[in-house]
This record gives sequence, structure tokens and C-alpha cells, in this order.
Amino acid sequence: MYKGIEASRGIGIGSICLIVDHDLTFETKHIDDTDAEKTRFNSAIDKFKAETAEMAENIRKNIGPKEAEIMEGHLAMIADPTMAGEMTKMIEAGQCAEAAVTAVCDMFIGMFSKMEDDMMRQRASDISDIKISLLKILLGVEDVDISKVAPGTILVAHDLTPSMTSQIVKDNVVGIITEVGGKTSHSAILARALEIPAVLSVPGITEIVHDKDTAIVDGTEGDVYINPDGEVVSKYVIKREEFIRAQAELKNFVGKESVTADGKPVELFCNIGTPKDAKKAIECDGEGIGLFRSEFLFMDKPHLPTEDEQFAAYKEAVDIMGGKTVIIRTLDIGGDKDIPYLELEKEENPFLGYRAVRYCLANRDMYKIQLRGILRASAFGKVKIMVPLVTCVEEVREVKALVEECKKELSAEGIAFDDAIEVGCMVETAAASLIADLLAQEADFFSIGTNDLTQYTMSVDRGNAKVAYLYSAFQPAVLRSIKNIIAAGNAAGIPVGMCGEAAADPLMIPLLISFGLDEYSVNPVLVLTARCIISKWTKEEADALAEKVLSLSTEAEIVAALKEAAK
Ligand code: PEP
Ligand code: MG
Repeated sequence: MYKGIEASRGIGIGSICLIVDHDLTFETKHIDDTDAEKTRFNSAIDKFKAETAEMAENIRKNIGPKEAEIMEGHLAMIADPTMAGEMTKMIEAGQCAEAAVTAVCDMFIGMFSKMEDDMMRQRASDISDIKISLLKILLGVEDVDISKVAPGTILVAHDLTPSMTSQIVKDNVVGIITEVGGKTSHSAILARALEIPAVLSVPGITEIVHDKDTAIVDGTEGDVYINPDGEVVSKYVIKREEFIRAQAELKNFVGKESVTADGKPVELFCNIGTPKDAKKAIECDGEGIGLFRSEFLFMDKPHLPTEDEQFAAYKEAVDIMGGKTVIIRTLDIGGDKDIPYLELEKEENPFLGYRAVRYCLANRDMYKIQLRGILRASAFGKVKIMVPLVTCVEEVREVKALVEECKKELSAEGIAFDDAIEVGCMVETAAASLIADLLAQEADFFSIGTNDLTQYTMSVDRGNAKVAYLYSAFQPAVLRSIKNIIAAGNAAGIPVGMCGEAAADPLMIPLLISFGLDEYSVNPVLVLTARCIISKWTKEEADALAEKVLSLSTEAEIVAALKEAAK
């Protein structure tokens, strides 16, 4: 069995079509007739544009307009005078077209691949895709026609570029395996949109497999089997059927209310990172936004976003949600999230340092710009402000005082906002959990951030693989903490949500029902799964399970008990 990154859920069993990377080496020549070379280059660009536009159209028809944006992005990049302009300049200086394309693309790839942000790093792979396509045209290399593969095919490639993915015929391709790429890569996004199981980043897989080998792709677990024996195949045939049945069951939950089996309604919101993600939340039937991570606005630019830029981004999400709640979390930088232009000092313990609300309260002018942007957006829908990394009551009071200050300024300027805007806090530190009763007197709502709550409760760095075995929300310490936070919120009569990953965990959901969680905020693609699991449990059943689980002493016993009881 080979392990990779689970990028698109489901089970695929089929026959491999190995896509071999072409040899794109070329001889670097000095060009005397630069005009002729420019003509050759320009006709390659024209061909690239025509092919890419056709692929975009294919994706639009077969997958959807949002996914077609990937290829449209390639068109925009090549239409941008910087890139083609630099290439032309090099040709005019006597370089051959292949060398010019390679040098300019490599320069951009180097620049983008060093960036921390996933989205920026993705640009590096987009440019790599453009480079390969241009070189193939210039060198006259013909690709395998992916659109013609036989039904039951599993595609194996070093990297499945969007241009390759655009040719996939959904009925014929049952799985994808690659050697590079992660969950947020474009090939992963397209595989998910096509609902084709995919496992990415399997080291050396193109060297291991041959055309026509049989393979199993388990895109849920990230497992790959090559030429498995009959027993493994039978096991996975059953798993595949179960998966298909479960997916069909989920479709029954589209447009339904989120209620427990005994009829208690809860709110099922989504976590988003950009305003455009709000569309995904709507498509996936989310009932609101429980966490809008505002960091992207600060990471996607070389400077602090202005009040108008922030207002526009928040308003875009609010407009897309059309009156549904949008909870905007104020800037949460520091820790593992760096913003280069802020020039934050390197710290010995960044997770315990100058981070989130601590940074914002020390940089009030900057913070007020964000608060004003959010307040202005609140005039257009139901917006709430959420404060990250709270550890003491003063922080909430200070943020609320700043919000009041911003409101006064906006009123004086005649700018509209929602005067009753709620200010809530993320409960994601051990301190906040222990004083949840005190915080509940100050905050209008709670949202439990289990990603950090687990880290701070267990004293375990959430990104450190060596101690990952301790990083579990099912640890007795974390479960007790979650229970206490919800109880404190309930006792004070304020709504309690959860926006950490645990909110969508099928094993966690019955416990959250028992503890009395009001709002679940999950990745949009998990809305229906969460709604389905919520619908299976009554409070009484959930209480019985929670009582049993809380009497157990180890994480392993707890997970085993929850798995046994899972519905
Ligand atoms: C959390 O900590 O659970 C959370 C939702 O915030 P983030 O993952 O952005 O720190
Ligand atoms: Mg957090």
C-alpha cells in the first residue's frame, strides 16, 4: 500500500493509464533572425491562447464556471504584458523562444513558490503549467489524449495540471494518483468538483506503476494499492458501495433544516477564507458563515489593506450570503501565520507570543481600520465581530470599547452601520476556557476554536508531527474543556458555536449535541455530512454516550467507544 494526500474522497478501482512526462529539453541557440523567432513565439502564444480558451470552455460545460476560472487565470497571466513582454525582450536580445519562456517562467515560479500563502504558491504551479504547455507547442510535442481513455481508467501522472484535468471525461476516469500537489492544488479542486477519487503526492508512483496495472485509489484515506490481491479488491468493492450509498443519502439533506433526531434545531454554518468562498457556502447549503478568516486580505497584498478594500471584501461576502449571518474574525496573525510587510520579530515561542488580538490591541490604528470596515459592511446584512485568541476579560472589553469608538466616528461621518452588532469571542485558549463564565458576561457569543484549544490545552504545537499523537480533540482534557465552555455559554444565555475542525467530526457531533452546542461551523463540503449525522442523534442517546465517554481515561478508549456507537 502507498500513502499520499487524500485530495478527493471516494474509492476508485480500475486500470492505470500512465501519463509520461515528455522530454522537454531543448538546445539553447543564439538567434540571429530575431524577427522570425518572435513570429514563431507569437504563433505559439496564439496557439496556447486558443487551446486554453477551448479547455476553459470544456471545463465550464463539464464541471462549472468557477472551475473554468483556473484556465481563464492562465489566459489572464499570459495576456499580462509583463510575462509575454519579458519573453519578447529576451528573444529580441538573441535568445531562442524556448529559452526565453523557460527563464521568465522559472523566475516567476521561484518568486511565488517561496511565498507562505497557499494561494500564492498555487500561482507557481499555474506558471509551471503555462511553461510546459508553451514548451510543448514550441517543440511540437503531442500529449496523450486524456479525453479518449477507456472507461474504468485511473490516471497516474507526476502532476495532473489543470490543462490535463480539463480533458477528463467523468464517466471514464475513476481515480487520479500523482506525485505532487496538495489538498488546495488546482488538480485537487478539479478532482473534487468532478467527484473523482484522488490521492496526490505519492512519492515515486510514476516509477512504480505500468500502463494497465490494476489499482485502487482510496481518496478518503489517501491510500493507493497497485495490483492488489482478490481479498483487498473485494474489501474495496464493498467500501466503494458504502461510499456511494452514503453520498446518495447525503443528497437527501439538501435544503433541509439542521435538526437532531428529536427535533432540536441547530445552526450549520461554514468556515471561509475569502469572500468568494461564500459562494461555495451557499452552493453547499450552508446556513451562514461561522468563521470568516480575514487574514487572506492581509496576506494577499504587499501592504495593509485599506478600510475601503476591507469593506468591499466583507460586503462581498455579506451580499453573497443574502441576509444570512456572517461572523468575521478580526486579524489572527502571528503564531504560524506571518505577514512579511508587518516585519514581525521572530519569537522563540510564536504561538505564545505577539499574536492575534494581542497584536491588534497593540496596533490600534490598524485594528480600527478593520473594525470600521466590518462595521460598514454590517449595514448590508447580519454581521458579527469575533475576537481571536482571547485569554482575559480585559481583551474583550478593550475590543468592545474600540468598536464603540469606531461607531461614534462613523456616526459623526454619517456612515451607516448596525448599531446592535454583536461582538463575540473565540474560546480557543486554556485560559478562556477556564474563565468561560466570566467571558460569557462580556461577550455576545462564543465560538470554540478546537484547533487552537487542543494545542493550548495539550501544550502541543498543532504543526509538529513528532507530537501529533497528542493533538486530538478527543483527549479527555479537551473534551472536558469543550463541555465546560458550552455549559458556561448556555448558563449565561449566549449562543455557543464551534468553528474548529472538530465541529464536523462525525465522532464528535453526538458529544456536541449532548453538551448543547447551538452552532456548528464547518468546511462547506462537510455541511451535508454534518447535517446527516446531527439528524441521527436524540439528546437522550447523545447524553448516554457522553456520560460513558467522559468516564473513560484515555483518548484511545474514547475514540474506540465513539466509533462503536457511530451511526
Ligand atoms: C481554531 O483555532 O480552531 C480556529 C478555528 O482558528 P484557526 O484554525 O484559524 O486558528
Ligand atoms: Mg485559532
